[in-house]
Amino acid sequence: MPGFRGGVHPRGLKLTGYKKIEVPPLPPRVVVPLRQHLGAPCNPLVEKGAQVKTGQKIGDSPAAVSAPVHASLSGTVVELSQQRLPTGDKALSVVIESDGKDEWERMPPLDPERASREELLQRVREAGIVGMGGAGFPTHVKLNPPKKVDTLVVNGVECEPYITADHRLMLEEGEKILEGAKIMAKILGVERVLIAIEDNKPDAIEHMEKLSEGVGKVVRLRTKYPQGDERHLLRAVLGREVPVGGLPLDVGAVVQNVGTCKAVRDAVLLGEPLVERVVTVTGEVAEPKNLRVRVGTPFSYLLQQCGGTVGGVKKVVAGGPMMGFAVYEDVPVVKTTGCVLVMGERQVVEEEEGPCIRCGRCVEACPMGLMPTHLVRLVRAKDFEACQQYNLLSCDECGCCAYVCPSKIPIVHVIREGKKGIRRLKK
Ligand code: SF4
Ligand code: SF4
Repeated sequence: MPGFRGGVHPRGLKLTGYKKIEVPPLPPRVVVPLRQHLGAPCNPLVEKGAQVKTGQKIGDSPAAVSAPVHASLSGTVVELSQQRLPTGDKALSVVIESDGKDEWERMPPLDPERASREELLQRVREAGIVGMGGAGFPTHVKLNPPKKVDTLVVNGVECEPYITADHRLMLEEGEKILEGAKIMAKILGVERVLIAIEDNKPDAIEHMEKLSEGVGKVVRLRTKYPQGDERHLLRAVLGREVPVGGLPLDVGAVVQNVGTCKAVRDAVLLGEPLVERVVTVTGEVAEPKNLRVRVGTPFSYLLQQCGGTVGGVKKVVAGGPMMGFAVYEDVPVVKTTGCVLVMGERQVVEEEEGPCIRCGRCVEACPMGLMPTHLVRLVRAKDFEACQQYNLLSCDECGCCAYVCPSKIPIVHVIREGKKGIRRLKK
């Protein structure tokens, strides 16, 4: 396999790789944001005081790129208000107080052999499924590409340090992932299904190889960050290069995360919308765990289930240490939350920024072929036109450059500022 250029090899620190997924008691209340995906936010379908059931649709949008959201507990809507998301933005959210009964409203199950492509696609939409690997792109849109594709790549790479939610899902619910992959292959009309897993998860590779006969083929990849990113994954798995500004479908492929596959299976076979997911809660907590929790569960509740934090907490991150977002208040789990990482003094070493010594390490590490050192200079000089010419917008904020920089220059932070500057310029 050709692999992909650049990238880094951070320590895995997968403290929870051997820990079975646990299901904690349901939280007393959930905060369900009406924007948990890329695309248009949903409009609320319920008002304060409404009684809802688990799985009931509570938000939807007529926009083509959007995905409905559903109540993740049965109970009473006690609030409709702006709430902070794990990304730091705010979104209108439905706050539900549990009635303790967890009464469900499900859709009728579908037989994937008999159901038409359109029925299956509609089901994926109605279930509110979005990419659970982090991007949150509505899955029904991705499964209906405007061009012919020939391959479905199931993404079990999970390359960020600490996170083990997908690893455990493959070990514990591999059959369900493959049932979902089969349904997605039918919708896409593709024969070829490849299941990509990095070689730091040999047990998952072996397990999925045993299960995948007749569905697809497992592709073992050498561990390297950020291989989980779709464009790097396609280069590693298929040797196909997604053009700058292009999408996987431009090279005839669709990539779906393992959790998304399982969600599609549950929506079709059980009629259940996406109201829960596996989250790795790790770092400086008394007992790191993989937890299956309802969407909308506050991070504070997750930390409680792990015995609370230990030592001096420096930072709580939604996601992994490379691409996650630092959170400064209690935020809810959303459909794309794979990890809550508590960082203490051991993980957060504050070092002063030094001058760029032009070592070129950031350029070597950049999987997008950018020149991070030059971009930093351009952003700081506020030359946003030149930033555009040097493709700053194609930076996917993977953090490889900052990881290798000996001068501790906050390159990603500066690049984000550059993106804002370009947007202002365009306006
Ligand atoms: S954060 Fe951007 S500039 Fe830095 S390595 Fe990743 S893609 Fe390249
Ligand atoms: S890695 Fe850091 S010090 Fe080296 S060239 Fe890049 S920005 Fe400069």
